[in-house]
Amino acid sequence: MSCNYADGLSDYQNKGVLGVPEIFDDEETVEQKCEQLAKWIQGSKHVVIHTGAGISTSAGIPDFRGPKGVWTLEKKGEKPSVNVAFDEAMPTKTHMGLKALVEAGFVKYVISQNIDGLHLRSGLERKYLAELHGNMFIEQCIKCRRQYVRSKPAPTVGKKLTGEMCKGTKNSRACRGGNLIDNILDWEHDLPESDLDLAFMHSTLADLNVCLGTTLQIVPSGNLPLRNKRYGGKLAICNLQPTKHDKKADLKISTYVDTIIEKVAKRLGVEIPAYTKEVDPTKDEPCSLEWTIPTEEVKSLDKQYSKTVRELMKNRKKGSSGSSSFKEEEVDEFEFKCKKFKKEKAEPNEGDSATTTTTKVESGEVKHEQHDAAGE
Ligand SMILES: [Zn+2]
Repeated sequence: MSCNYADGLSDYQNKGVLGVPEIFDDEETVEQKCEQLAKWIQGSKHVVIHTGAGISTSAGIPDFRGPKGVWTLEKKGEKPSVNVAFDEAMPTKTHMGLKALVEAGFVKYVISQNIDGLHLRSGLERKYLAELHGNMFIEQCIKCRRQYVRSKPAPTVGKKLTGEMCKGTKNSRACRGGNLIDNILDWEHDLPESDLDLAFMHSTLADLNVCLGTTLQIVPSGNLPLRNKRYGGKLAICNLQPTKHDKKADLKISTYVDTIIEKVAKRLGVEIPAYTKEVDPTKDEPCSLEWTIPTEEVKSLDKQYSKTVRELMKNRKKGSSGSSSFKEEEVDEFEFKCKKFKKEKAEPNEGDSATTTTTKVESGEVKHEQHDAAGE
């Protein structure tokens, strides 16, 4: 019930461009484009998928900015008519397909803006997933910061006390007196730091970023898929509505994401499994899976990231015979990143709020012609 979630959020006026009509490529074009996408995925070493509300509409969860989206209708004083309970919604063909593509080694990482928990419930492992806006099936201990999977959606929205206490897991004890809060970000909240760090680095290292079901209007999430462009990486966008970054895309496919994933998986020889309760950690009895990102995971990718980006920059400097395509700001950004990690090491307790960058809707236009101004 996206509405319950939406109603729980604080008032926020700037919700971006809403209700732009959807576009559909004809069948033959869809075939050709899916063939192209499958070829690119096959030929890439580091494919990163970026998902938005559009991948959950076939599960009965309304999106936000589509013609029948929650914010589009809110503007007219209406509410979506199709709206299943979050714990009754099931992972879609896209969720199950992504899990299969990850397991087959075609996809390295998935970055989601969705809070519906369907990636988790598809059985996709935590190490392959960044959840930038939270997950309603996760609670976090305010004392030890560990995250736990819940069997039901959290009763609250916006990082409030759920009434539960720190659970611990089979292998680790609960901390004493740790209250749990929901893990659903409100507008003003900072993004979860480890999720964002991993998302940032994977998006940059990607030789192919693929966006599924998002208009890319929310920042920083919506700008992450562009991060690999400076190093020659590709961008593919699969969405029914125009998106903020269509102009920068090397491929844009306009049809249902389930259709695209089905066609692409088939071409790659990957079978999409059906959803079963057995793969869904929210159905475990007892439900006790820990969902915390281990700090070592971030550190280890950071090493690879620093090394690779340094090499890429060197190559670009050499290759560009001068500095025509080399921007100062990239160096700044890279140095900033290094400093940030050092700072964390020096002050381990600071930033205990596990957060860094606030989510905002960029008020850029989604129309093809005008989306550049506030770009990256
Ligand atoms: Zn705790």
